Amino acid sequence: MHIVSLAGGIGGARFLRGLRAADPAATITVIGNTGDDITLFGLRVCPDLDTVMYTLGDGIDEEQGWGRAKESHVVKEELAAYGVEPQWFGLGDRDLATHIVRSQMLEAGYPLSQITEALTTRWQPGVRLLPMSDDRCETHVVIEDEHGRRAVHFQEWWVRLRASVPAQSFALVGVDTARPAPGVLEAIEEADVVILPPSNPVVSIGTILQVPGIRDALLPKTVVGVSPIIGGAPVRGMADACLTAIGVKTTAQAVLELYGSDLIDGWLVAEEDARVALDGVRVVARPILMHDVAAAADIARTTLDLAQELAR
Ligand code: GDP
Ligand code: CA
Repeated sequence: MHIVSLAGGIGGARFLRGLRAADPAATITVIGNTGDDITLFGLRVCPDLDTVMYTLGDGIDEEQGWGRAKESHVVKEELAAYGVEPQWFGLGDRDLATHIVRSQMLEAGYPLSQITEALTTRWQPGVRLLPMSDDRCETHVVIEDEHGRRAVHFQEWWVRLRASVPAQSFALVGVDTARPAPGVLEAIEEADVVILPPSNPVVSIGTILQVPGIRDALLPKTVVGVSPIIGGAPVRGMADACLTAIGVKTTAQAVLELYGSDLIDGWLVAEEDARVALDGVRVVARPILMHDVAAAADIARTTLDLAQELAR
């Protein structure tokens, strides 16, 4: 079986670890969000691709959910000693090596998709990891604070401001001319089922769906999603701040409606959200908290069973 899964960072990566365990024989292609990517200190950082790569490659800081295990921060301290900004973005020493390799390859002219393939040779994630696009395409956030109304990079809003200043809107800069990375449309075309893990519906999954051609390619497919919202709140993180910004309620129902019944065939929600309903969508209520890999695998198995049933 060939499974395609979209993915953001933590929610996506933890789900994928379960998916891999749920069907070890399946071929899994992951289309990763690159809207969070940022250039810092001359280095290209792809937080969501790296979270997926480290999580599936057993190199993740489990507790934090992102970054490397057994990390140190000597370079960050040295940069701070020079007074170099930004100091609000956590870049560990081990993690920096990834960004150095990536930046060097970009400088040499390799596309992000080939670089990601090269990086995953080390991590052996057991899935094929593709960036949504090789074209630079970054999420910016329009905010209004003491400096007036302005757009900041998504990471500045998310990490430095902790989403405490309301977002007025999001702009995916560069999306108009972005093309899906090589292999993305082909993988979707060949997929038996497509899974939307419980990633941020606005700035992870929503971003990938905005790349011209991806959403259209998904429409004829059997697509099953897992709600990132349980009982009116995100399981972790600040997805509510993103949903509010685009005028969508923080509920499993509203996220399903945001994706739409043209895209979604099956929707997995928590038991307390069992009343969620939308014409044309099969809603299944089950525990969807990924406490550990076994729990994530149970959730993944349910999505696969549902997808296979709906695909028939
Ligand atoms: P990010 O890029 O690191 O922010 O991660 P993602 O976009 O992949 O995922 C963030 C989303 O995952 C948040 O909206 C969370 O609500 C959701 N999430 C995290 N852990 C769980 C979980 O155990 N179960 C479910 N259903 N959602 C989760
Ligand atoms: Ca992210």
